[in-house]
Amino acid sequence: MTELTNLGIKAIRDGVREGDFTAREVAEAFNDAAANAKALNAFITLTPDHALAAADAIDAARADGGDLKPMAGVPIGMKDLFATKGVQTSAASHILEGFAPPYESTVSQNLWDAGAGMLGKLNLDQFAMGSSNETSHFGNVASPWRREGSNASMSPGGSSGGSSSAVSARIAPAATGTDTGGSIRQPAAFTGICGIKPTYGRCSRWGTVAFASSLDQAGPMARSVEDCAIMLGAMAGFDPKDATSLKMDVPDWEGALSADLSGKRIGIPSEYRMEGTSDAILDSWEQGKAWLKDAGAEIVDISLPHTKYALPAYYIIAPAEASSNLARYDGVRYGLRELPDGAGLQDMYAETREAGFGEEVKRRILIGTYVLSAGFYDAYYNQAQKVRTLVARDFEQAWERCDLILAPTTPTASFPLGSLDNDPLTMYLNDVFAVPASLAGLPAMSVPATLDPNGLPLGLQLVGKPFDEQSVLDAGLAIQNRAGFDHAPEKWW
Ligand code: GLN
Repeated sequence: MTELTNLGIKAIRDGVREGDFTAREVAEAFNDAAANAKALNAFITLTPDHALAAADAIDAARADGGDLKPMAGVPIGMKDLFATKGVQTSAASHILEGFAPPYESTVSQNLWDAGAGMLGKLNLDQFAMGSSNETSHFGNVASPWRREGSNASMSPGGSSGGSSSAVSARIAPAATGTDTGGSIRQPAAFTGICGIKPTYGRCSRWGTVAFASSLDQAGPMARSVEDCAIMLGAMAGFDPKDATSLKMDVPDWEGALSADLSGKRIGIPSEYRMEGTSDAILDSWEQGKAWLKDAGAEIVDISLPHTKYALPAYYIIAPAEASSNLARYDGVRYGLRELPDGAGLQDMYAETREAGFGEEVKRRILIGTYVLSAGFYDAYYNQAQKVRTLVARDFEQAWERCDLILAPTTPTASFPLGSLDNDPLTMYLNDVFAVPASLAGLPAMSVPATLDPNGLPLGLQLVGKPFDEQSVLDAGLAIQNRAGFDHAPEKWW
């Protein structure tokens, strides 16, 4: 029998259904793998009992001849941004350390209802702010990948770096991620796995720690396109508790998957040929075009003229929303409270926030407060909102010429942890190709394409029309079938 930890969602679910192994055996195998991978620091909290209890429920349901749900028997990792009842939900911050919510987020509840169990809460960049998983209060996450001939610890990407590290290291078959401006796609690309951010509103934000509410979207991270289709189906759905939740049925993405792209037009945006993009990435983009053509698609050149303004606009809008969302952490209601002797209320707010937030989070709050202040609101925030509209309009115009867009996910492969420490602007550039789809609320996916000359994974990005996750997944499958990416990192942890 193949090692259980090499299996993904579909193989586990089908194997449990067929009786090839029990859900408990699967949960035990992943619990062990997760407990023995401390060197990656992918998990903040392990919850082996949650995984075992869910598995036992599935094994019992199967013995009773009951219908098994789409994620039955699959233990997953949960990004520590989703509220999980009774289990610490920290957003990788000190200010929420020890906070155990008395409620469950809609996305995690949907997954449990679909038969999944939880291996633990995954590390991330603090409050999902970052591109390298170096801003967590609980320490950096290491990628299981290394450059050939080097022992340097590499970044798993961010903010969903615990998720990408765990899934690529095969200590979890799949994990949740969230994507505000690239945090599912960039870490997926860095670690050779798949990740899809659905159309804004597909997954409920209720119970997910808010970063930038008009951008935040949850999505699955897994090792195959099929697994992403299954897991997204389980996560998504209308939720009356989230005012921006889409009131639409969840399609059967898994059932409708097809790698035949006949009749599809794939747009290649000329503005994504940016300075600083590595040759290996540009080559993989060319290869991606050839693969999609081979799958029956027609390749067309398109223009997204406002692309270069997307990243600066994002770094105004996201911090603005963050500064407002993070105002709630004040020492009164959740987590940390710093109350020095004789301190008044204002002192308590200030001391708690000073001690509880990391440097990057403070930087975002300061930027956000500045761009929303009376004197600068028009010059920055309003201007950025206008740019956002123009970026969205670029895509609307592109859809007149194509059905999908193919682009690189990131301008470079992963980099060593610590190498961009004092360079937030270069760090922000990681998301230059990811942010436009976020601003426009579009579904977008990263699929592994190849390894670069250093042996590091590279991803290709597919962006679709609103609500058309199906075409994104289909084209992802066409790439997956042709790329034959079956590389796994060599175990050193
Ligand atoms: N890296 C981007 C940022 O730091 C995106 C983060 C995200 O998508 N959560 O804001």
